[in-house]
Amino acid sequence: MMIKRLGGFRRSGGNQPTPAFAPAVDEEREALALLRDYENSGLGWFWASDAQGNITYVSGCAATVLGQSAQALIGQPFTSLFILDDDASADNGRTLPMLIGTHKTFSAFTARARNEGVEVWWAISGRPQHDDQGNFLGYRGNGADVTEALSEQRDSSRLALFDSLTGLANRHSMSQRLTNTLSAYKTSQRSCALMMIDLDRFKQVNDTLGHPAGDALLKQVAERLHAVIDKQGEIGRLGGDEFQVIIPDCDDRGKLGDLAKRIIALISQPYSIDSSRVVIGASIGIAVAPFDGADSEELVRNADMALYAAKDGGRGQFRFFSIELQNAAEKRKILEEDLRDALVEGQIRLAYQPVVNAHSNQVVGLEALMRWEHPDFGELPPSLFIPLAEESELIVALGEWALRHACHQAVEWPGGVCVSVNIATAQFARNGFVATVAQALAESELEPYRLELEFPESVFATDETLLDETFAQLKQLGVKLSLDNFGAGNSPLANLRSAPFDKIKIDRSVIQEMTNPRSRCAAMAASIVTLAKKLGMETTAEGIEARDELELICELGIDQIQGFIYAPPCSGEEVTDALATGQWVIQPDGPARQRADRRTVLRRVGVIHEDFRYDVMMRNLSRGGAAVEGLIEVPVGTDFVLDLGEGQLVVATVRRSEGAEQGLEFEISLVDDGAGGLVTRHRVPRHLLDAMGMPQPGHTAASVIALNTTGGMHLPKFATSDAGKVGRAA
Ligand code: C2E
Ligand code: MG
Repeated sequence: MMIKRLGGFRRSGGNQPTPAFAPAVDEEREALALLRDYENSGLGWFWASDAQGNITYVSGCAATVLGQSAQALIGQPFTSLFILDDDASADNGRTLPMLIGTHKTFSAFTARARNEGVEVWWAISGRPQHDDQGNFLGYRGNGADVTEALSEQRDSSRLALFDSLTGLANRHSMSQRLTNTLSAYKTSQRSCALMMIDLDRFKQVNDTLGHPAGDALLKQVAERLHAVIDKQGEIGRLGGDEFQVIIPDCDDRGKLGDLAKRIIALISQPYSIDSSRVVIGASIGIAVAPFDGADSEELVRNADMALYAAKDGGRGQFRFFSIELQNAAEKRKILEEDLRDALVEGQIRLAYQPVVNAHSNQVVGLEALMRWEHPDFGELPPSLFIPLAEESELIVALGEWALRHACHQAVEWPGGVCVSVNIATAQFARNGFVATVAQALAESELEPYRLELEFPESVFATDETLLDETFAQLKQLGVKLSLDNFGAGNSPLANLRSAPFDKIKIDRSVIQEMTNPRSRCAAMAASIVTLAKKLGMETTAEGIEARDELELICELGIDQIQGFIYAPPCSGEEVTDALATGQWVIQPDGPARQRADRRTVLRRVGVIHEDFRYDVMMRNLSRGGAAVEGLIEVPVGTDFVLDLGEGQLVVATVRRSEGAEQGLEFEISLVDDGAGGLVTRHRVPRHLLDAMGMPQPGHTAASVIALNTTGGMHLPKFATSDAGKVGRAA
């Protein structure tokens, strides 16, 4: 208002027009004085530019902020007063030069002053000036310091969007981001992966070291997540020890699995909190849109389900969502219920696997391994029910039973062979564990040196004093202590410094990779053997199956071997019979070398050839291929597409064909699913499968169906072995 009445700014000291009437002169003088007061107060400042955008007037107070005199700024581009490359210097995508270029009015554009000292932000307004012919003459406008208001506004919006402890996005903002990303990607069918991360054993840290330590730990976890994810995605903390990562444009489960492994490995490295050493782990569930959920609610629910499955699978793992998980969740509930009665119902038994002296092939020990004979599902492996037992504390009763039973069994065995029993961390950390061991020995009258206790690496997560005291008491009893599955987890070597182990068992995962020249596992195994010798400990290699593995591990000077190359786990009676003569020597017998990690599976899959989908049985599956049964007389060299379900299509070539069985080689290798299974890297979205005429999930397939691919009129080329269902095409 004042600007208009003044009719234009003059440079200080410039010629003033002669007033026509004295009152007007007074008024103008008064206005000018007010204007000066206003400028001097620092509340605001004025500016004017010519048609080229160069400054013709600027208040002294604005010039002072820039460390210059108003005079020095005259003639310079008005935009040169600001730093305009900052993100915040844009208003709905429009920059100050753009606004000025339009010759239109603008108001409250925030821009940062180009000064060297403290950061100053101005809100700038401008009105275009025109002559009588409508020609643009330049701008007049004003500015005001809004630094404080802006910083308050930023703080409050940060608070609303960010987690104040870690500085990561909070639940609300992650949910908004996911919703926005998914709706923006929907029409173009772009993919977006969601990872749910949950810390393992975080509660223990909070409970034992207190909440401030828990907070410090969460901050360090956030930093580590930043280090791994970097710019690949958005990281958020949902609350407690739950984190979430959104990775846009990624459906490659190979990459996602690798990323998840890196996150787990980094989070599992020790932390230093208030001079205490803390070790936690992480479990991750992954779901990928649009395959595992089209909207954010469904995707989050399914990533959560995958997370629970990862936790159930023994923690420290990742898991992809799949329809099977939904079924598995239901089965797990049934097993959880049934496990309560399994012991009293006599459904639990122990199998014993020989541990052999690597030089003499003589059996020196037997590892007791639990089996559950389920009335409906048959024999279940411990990998399926031990994690359930650990969650419900049932592990304590099961573990005690195994200890007693193994001791009673071992006294029956002639000679001095040892029996080793696996001890869960929950069992170890419980009051009275040493007394239970002593009682099992006393009741069975087994000599203590014949009992070996195998501890998982997670035992080091228990309180250090308890750890030292319990190990010392066990040593006093005279039992042997061994560290199980060494090399599989992330426990550092420092754990071996004080723990009085008699033996280290090298994990099967290290052994499996040892013969691969590109892997470092052979060097790792060599170092473990050397280190153990230096520390006066024995070593056992677990899971030796092939002769090349045996040769390599023996060259390293391993003391004992346990693996299918000598014997699988067998019954207590079989062991008693074999030891009848007092000595049991087994000659190694296995394949020359380890086959590609081939897993026996038995499930129905589809084989697509030309315009037909055949229903066949898959017998085994490895990264590079599969064996299927169900089609007759398929020539070697035939190209198929194997349908593994849920949009997992793999191009494959028949390399071997005998009767109704074919060996297929995949064009692109499968990747780990985090649960010991294999999945395709990419999937085909449901709408494309539907367009092809592929059957819906859960269908009861006919042995052959025609697809809407080329709409060909020909008949299926192959007959199925299921005689009578479809005839051989001419
Ligand atoms: P673990 O202690 O590492 O036991 C060795 C596992 O490797 C056994 O699996 C054994 O059958 C398997 N194995 C041995 N040699 C070979 C081989 O050459 N090739 C292959 N592919 N596998 C081999 P199992 O019996 O399924 O036991 C799995 C895990 O369950 C055990 O791993 C142990 O951690 C746990 N477990 C078993 N029994 C008990 C128990 O009584 N208490 C507790 N707490 N855990 C148990
Ligand atoms: Mg073991």
